[in-house]
Amino acid sequence: MAGLGPLPYAEVTDDGYAARAAETFTAREFGPAVLLSGDCPRCRHPITVPVVDEVYRHEAAGAGDDPGYRTLLCTCEADHPARPAGLSGCGAYWTLLLEVDR
Ligand SMILES: [Zn+2]
Ligand SMILES: [Zn+2]
Repeated sequence: MAGLGPLPYAEVTDDGYAARAAETFTAREFGPAVLLSGDCPRCRHPITVPVVDEVYRHEAAGAGDDPGYRTLLCTCEADHPARPAGLSGCGAYWTLLLEVDR
């Protein structure tokens, strides 16, 4: 989205982030991880987030109440004013239900 100007870094979440990410992100398996690719729902920069599949470990440990929810963080490479040194992204985070089909 052009024309909005640079967003300042802020650690924020919003119900709409997860909904937008669920619509726009694509997932593909990459070794032991799943790569989620799409545009950050806050800053709209493209990001790719590797998610290590921990579902099996949860099942093995008998903790069955976490079916695959993951907290995703924006990791875009773009500049966001006021971002702490060493961090990437715009600070947005959201929870995604990772559907593992096996
Ligand atoms: Zn960004
Ligand atoms: Zn972002």
